[in-house]
Amino acid sequence: MDQTQRLFMREAIHLAKEGMLSGNGGPFGCVIVKEGKIIGKGSNMVLKTNDPTAHAEVVAIRDACKNLNHFQLEGCEVYTSCEPCPMCLGAIFWARPAKVFYACTKEDAANAGFDDDFIYHEIEIKPEQRKIPMVSLLREESLKNFETWKKKGDKTLY
Ligand SMILES: [Zn+2]
Repeated sequence: MDQTQRLFMREAIHLAKEGMLSGNGGPFGCVIVKEGKIIGKGSNMVLKTNDPTAHAEVVAIRDACKNLNHFQLEGCEVYTSCEPCPMCLGAIFWARPAKVFYACTKEDAANAGFDDDFIYHEIEIKPEQRKIPMVSLLREESLKNFETWKKKGDKTLY
């Protein structure tokens, strides 16, 4: 771990503290770096924006993608004050950065009352058996959009 990487992580940890003390959300912060420069940052904004998806990583990914004017974080590094939850992990894989650095572990988060273990468990069980039941409806009708997508000639692949 070099000195610059420590500085970026300290910024993520600082954002976590600032966001928490401002009442914006939980103590989570994230910065996204490309070629040695911060191109996106965020802290947890769940309480401030009434947005359950406004985790630090998601806020930072949106900020970075807006600044890059692109939907991928190619060659970028993500510095997050805590190991990403399943939602943020998914968002990170969709955004495809080169590497992720995290400070605290998900066990540290669970000790502070932020336990996301149940989501990993929910992913493994059948949709209809989940705590929030998931029911397939109108599959045949919806499949038509996939057929159209497959034949669409001018699409941008992502
Ligand atoms: Zn998250």
